[in-house]
Amino acid sequence: MLGFGRVKVLGATPGQGTQLRCPGCNGPSIVVFSEHGDTDPPDLAFGLCKQCGLVFLATKVSEEQLKSAYAAVDSDAYYAAIDSTLGEKSSRAVADLSAIVDRDGFSLLDVGCGYGHFLRATRSHWPGARVVGHEFDDACAEACRAASFQVTTGDLAAVDELFDVITLLDVAEHVDDPVQVFTTVRRLLRPGGLMYVHTPCRCGWDSLFLVLLHCPGIRRISQTWLRSRLSIFHLRLWSDVALTRALNVSGFDVESFSREFELSWPIDLYAQNYLGRRLHFPAFAVRVSGGLARFVFVDLRLLRNKAIVVARPRPSLNGSREVAR
Ligand SMILES: [Zn+2]
Repeated sequence: MLGFGRVKVLGATPGQGTQLRCPGCNGPSIVVFSEHGDTDPPDLAFGLCKQCGLVFLATKVSEEQLKSAYAAVDSDAYYAAIDSTLGEKSSRAVADLSAIVDRDGFSLLDVGCGYGHFLRATRSHWPGARVVGHEFDDACAEACRAASFQVTTGDLAAVDELFDVITLLDVAEHVDDPVQVFTTVRRLLRPGGLMYVHTPCRCGWDSLFLVLLHCPGIRRISQTWLRSRLSIFHLRLWSDVALTRALNVSGFDVESFSREFELSWPIDLYAQNYLGRRLHFPAFAVRVSGGLARFVFVDLRLLRNKAIVVARPRPSLNGSREVAR
C-alpha cells in the first residue's frame, strides 16, 4: 500500500523554488518559502504540491526534535489558553455525531484526547457510552485518568479493543505519517464503525496568500499568515484532494466532507503571536487588527479553515479482524 512518504529535500534548507516530490501523492512540488528562526531545526522550508494542492513542511524534522519541541510547550498554560475553543470544538463534534449515532451504548475512542475536553462532552451527552482516550502526552493522559477516564498511551496500533466511533480532533496535521494513523484507526473500528476527523484544510485565504507570496510588498504578511497554519507542529495544510486521497489510500470511503469555521486558539492569541511577536506590530495595531479579524472571520464567518470529515472503512477491507478482541 502506498503510504504518506517522507519528504525528500535536497539539503538542510531548500530555498524558494526548489523542486520536491509531494509527501502525499508524490506529485511535483515546489518550495514556496523558507525562513530562519529560533526553532530546532532553525531553517524551515514549506512546499506546495502542484498536483494535489497539499501545503507541507518540507524540512525533515527528526523525532528527537519534535519530542523536544513538544516538551518545551507548557501544556497547562496552553490548554488553559485554548479552553474556550476546545469547548466549542467538542460541542460541535458531539452535535455532528448525534446526527449519526442514534444509540447511547456505543464505544468511542478519542485519539489525541489532550486534557479530555471531548471525553467529558461525550460522557455528558451519552452517559451510557464507553468512552476511551488515547494520548501521546503522559501528563495529559494522567489528567484524564484523574477524571476517571480510561486513557491509553504509546503506540496507537497496540490498542487491543475495537470501537464503534474513533475521533481525531486536530490530530492529522500533527502526525508524521497520517496514512499510517488512518490505517490503524480502520483496524480499530468495529464493522459498521466510523472515523470522525477535524483538521486544518486549505481555504480561500490560504490560496490567496500563497499567490501573494510573489508580491514583494505583501510577502512578509503572506508568509506570516501561512506560518500561522504550518509549523513543526502543524506539518501539513490539507487540500480537499490531498485529504480525500489519504483517506482512500488508508481504506476509507468519505461519507461527508465539509469545510467549516473553527479556530484552534482564541483570535486574540493569533493576533498577539503573529502580528505582535512576528511582525512587531505596535500594541494598538494588534488590537485593531485583532478586532478586524474577529469581525471578518468570526462575525461574518468568512473563513472556512477546518475540514470536518466522516469516513467509513471500505466494505471490502475488513481490517478490524486483525485486532484481537
Ligand atoms: Zn500532492
